[in-house]
Amino acid sequence: MSRYVRNNIAAMTGYTPGEQPQRDDVVKLNTNENPYPPSPAVLDAMAHITAEQLRRYPSPTAAAFREAAADVHGLTPANIIATNGGDELLRLLITTFVEPGAKIVTPQPTYSLYPVLAAIADCPIEQIDRDADWSLPDDFAQQVIDRDGKLALIVNPHAPSGQLTSGPKLRAIAEALQGQAVLVVDEAYVDFVDPEAGHDLLPMVREVENLVLLRSMSKGYSLAGLRMGYGVAHETLIEPMMSKTKDSYNVDAVAHALATAAIRDRAYALHSAMKVREQRAWLRDQLGALGWAVGESASNFLLATVPENFAGGAMAVYEALKSEGIFVRYFDQQRLHDKLRITVGTAPQNRRLIEALQRMA
Ligand SMILES: *Cc1c(COP(=O)(O)O)cnc(C)c1O
Repeated sequence: MSRYVRNNIAAMTGYTPGEQPQRDDVVKLNTNENPYPPSPAVLDAMAHITAEQLRRYPSPTAAAFREAAADVHGLTPANIIATNGGDELLRLLITTFVEPGAKIVTPQPTYSLYPVLAAIADCPIEQIDRDADWSLPDDFAQQVIDRDGKLALIVNPHAPSGQLTSGPKLRAIAEALQGQAVLVVDEAYVDFVDPEAGHDLLPMVREVENLVLLRSMSKGYSLAGLRMGYGVAHETLIEPMMSKTKDSYNVDAVAHALATAAIRDRAYALHSAMKVREQRAWLRDQLGALGWAVGESASNFLLATVPENFAGGAMAVYEALKSEGIFVRYFDQQRLHDKLRITVGTAPQNRRLIEALQRMA
């Protein structure tokens, strides 16, 4: 390590992305990509990108996307910031709302990028255990206050369990944190929540001035390769990020055009999400029939406990599947050693997984 590197950077461990095997014949159920393609409107927009669009700088405010997103969500563009993936929004939130050295709090297990971003900013991160059934501790807001946290990060639906915390419960946490901290609800997977649940935090951002919702085009809109996400919040939270902390041209012209086409065709994404929910139910049943304990998931993945009769446990099953070209996620982490996180795939992919597991049982 060069001696010129900042101390906190030298001391930290970087983020480990999930494996991205380059072969096409694998069944890739390890990084929660959408198994279905993006809307045809996206491919059409791609075919119509002009040389002129590439020659010029893009819209610094991603104006067309913010208008389209505001329209879809019943908000105004002042409530939206477009970012280079949801991940850029997380970095911006820390830069904008956390003083150097101030604390970030998250219920754990959590998205493993959070501690990495905190370490880069040289901010301590406090991880508060989720309850045994993965729900948020009832005193979460009080724990943030006791620790003097300035930013709280909650993934909802939760990764890796898929559990959904209700809107009213999250609103109460945000309200309890007013004057103390910004609450970020990371809704990377919210597009997979059953619409019948009536789960919707979007209208809250007009009234709750310390609530930020993270949205991603990667999962719900099948655009992980594009790198586009956005934040939804009260305009007083969006404004400093727009006018001060974001890069001037943080969203490139191609991402801007394609993501705008995608969000305008939200109906297509919702239809894909419905198919994912159908496959999620099938996969959960099949795993259950094999003796795996699988909690309910509101997301596009399942967290499954490997039963005793699978010799060697979760790690061995992960390896055995990998040798057959089937990739799932194993976390070498407290509370997760006997579990695998399995992304819901297409019907043929899910069948291949179940057939492989039946042979191992
Ligand atoms: C995927 C994901 C994101 C954002 O991903 P991007 O691809 O950068 O948009 C944020 N949080 C969680 C928990 C995720 O799984």
